[in-house]
Amino acid sequence: MKFATKAIHAGVHPDPATGAIMTPIYQTSTYVQDGVGNHKGYEYSRTQNPTRHALEKNIAAIENGKFGACFGSGLAAIDCVLKMLNPGDEVISTNDLYGGSYRIFRTIFEKYGIIFHFVNMQDVDAVAALVNENTKMIWVETPTNPMMNIVDIEAMAKISKAAGAMLCVDNTFATPYLQNPLDLGADVVMHSVTKYLGGHSDVVMGALVCSDENIANEMYRIQNSTGAVTAPMDSFLVLRGIKTLHLRVQRHCENGEKVARFLATHPKIDKVYWPGFESHPNHEVAKRQMRGFGGMISFNLKGNQLEDALSIVKKVEIFALAESLGGVESLIGHPATMTHASIPKDVREQSGVVDSLIRLSVGIEDADDLIADLTQALA
Ligand SMILES: *Cc1c(COP(=O)(O)O)cnc(C)c1O
Repeated sequence: MKFATKAIHAGVHPDPATGAIMTPIYQTSTYVQDGVGNHKGYEYSRTQNPTRHALEKNIAAIENGKFGACFGSGLAAIDCVLKMLNPGDEVISTNDLYGGSYRIFRTIFEKYGIIFHFVNMQDVDAVAALVNENTKMIWVETPTNPMMNIVDIEAMAKISKAAGAMLCVDNTFATPYLQNPLDLGADVVMHSVTKYLGGHSDVVMGALVCSDENIANEMYRIQNSTGAVTAPMDSFLVLRGIKTLHLRVQRHCENGEKVARFLATHPKIDKVYWPGFESHPNHEVAKRQMRGFGGMISFNLKGNQLEDALSIVKKVEIFALAESLGGVESLIGHPATMTHASIPKDVREQSGVVDSLIRLSVGIEDADDLIADLTQALA
């Protein structure tokens, strides 16, 4: 089955009791058993819930994976993968990581003896040089947030396979419509479902997808043992959101390209970061592993003044000043003081998150209106 058909149908069946075409919100904590151990596959909603189960199958299908698990947030999904590790294990990750991922690595898991290395992952040799016998995981984010760097997933898969390590890819920015890491050799795909999969800025959720049965068993064991599951109502909302994922992402890509090309010609703008530009340093890799370049764009200003950036994010009228991304409405953010405030200034500046950097999540409104809004805010 092709993507659009899977997005609408995978995991979803008419309700056996009523024929309802939409999977009901099974708002229940427990399930009545006919006799001890004689149940219909559901015992307790931390372990299994039919609405969540439908969504988990749906997300697994659109990522070309076999097993899916949904969590109360993207970070709860990351927490689950990291709990597959043991003290002394080492993780190699990118140096322009999502701020919350950096925080859970450094402030939660380091104290349990997991060792994290941060490196510029465009430099494949630099990643390979960090591998040793304790390397158990490579954590990739691509495109990266907020610098829109592209990491070569196949190159990372070669390194992780040789090391016997697990390759995990945070696929939040690309979405399964544009990129499928499992097909490129990854072992686990992670999503902040909060963003494009939900797509309507009304749910916080995370997901993991894998195809290996041993990894899946660990994933479900940890999901059930630690309990960071998502709710039936939220599962329903995301099932509904994913039905239009392909249409939304097509428009995000179209609008993203128009806005990026507009910004690139603006006299007040220094650099525009968007992987669709031929001049983007990783454009060839992006073309190889993605089917489109998305609607996430960052840019910085000539002169690099903090006040100029803060004034622009205040002056926009259609773009809303907010954290998060991936919804139908356009958002604008200032990474240095918002999403990346938990990363030390010297560390963030090394990776390009300077004071005047602005990040856009280009929504699916009319592109002309979005460009007019940016024009007046930059004036
Ligand atoms: C938002 C985000 C996360 C964290 O997800 P939550 O749902 O906010 O917990 C992780 N990675 C990326 C790339 C994100 O954008």
